[in-house]
Amino acid sequence: MKVGKPEKLIVNGKRLDGRAFDELRPIKIKAGVLKRADGSCYLEWGKNKIIAACYGPREVHPRHLARPDRAILRCVYKMAPFSVKERKKPGPDRRSVELSKVITEALENVVFLNLFPRSAIDVYIEVLQAEGGTRCASLTAASVALADAGVPMKDLVAACAAGKVDGEIVLDLFELEDNYGEADLPVGIVPRTGEITLLQMDGNLTREEFEKALDLAIKGALQVYELQKAALKEKYGGENGGEQ
Ligand code: UDP
Repeated sequence: MKVGKPEKLIVNGKRLDGRAFDELRPIKIKAGVLKRADGSCYLEWGKNKIIAACYGPREVHPRHLARPDRAILRCVYKMAPFSVKERKKPGPDRRSVELSKVITEALENVVFLNLFPRSAIDVYIEVLQAEGGTRCASLTAASVALADAGVPMKDLVAACAAGKVDGEIVLDLFELEDNYGEADLPVGIVPRTGEITLLQMDGNLTREEFEKALDLAIKGALQVYELQKAALKEKYGGENGGEQ
């Protein structure tokens, strides 16, 4: 359910939450927060609060889904009933099926699935609180949970959206901008290879606007990437780590 439409989304050159056009919301990432999962991540991105838990590689159930040459990756995105303003009915809906699919596909070619034939790697994503941009936040958390589980990957996948709001190209849309802006462009990247593994667009952009928004989203995702690496270093040691 959408909250009321504000008259303007940009006032005196600032966004309604006070951010500059190219500014991310505050982001906190913590790796390894759940004792019973093989890997996990808790992420706060603005008012979004998300937990991701990774299990595997493990036996596939149901068995007929097993592939002889590689593991299968299954990411499941869920929104808690209390995560949004208007209570969300529990259980899968079209949106959560779509988000689970795009998040799985954004990670599928990054995980070395060929190393684990006949097994499954499962990532469960629980959105505890939502404020727009949960697919990028969930993908970011899922990739930290996979890394925390020790699943071999080409790199982390980092994600961020850009979009168009009151005619301006802006980074990282929050809920009101997401619901009432002109366009939203979530992007997921593999920084090490330069691949883009998530690219969706809601709304309309001209070619120039699209290029500007894509460029901005990639810059945002690179900042997110640094925070993902810092969260893993904090848990496992490294330049700034080893203190836990
Ligand atoms: N939302 C909501 N109820 C729903 C689904 C979404 O209030 O059932 C809100 C929530 O804050 C979400 C935002 O609308 O983050 C935008 O949803 P969208 O489908 O664009 O995905 P997202 O931006 O979260 O990736």
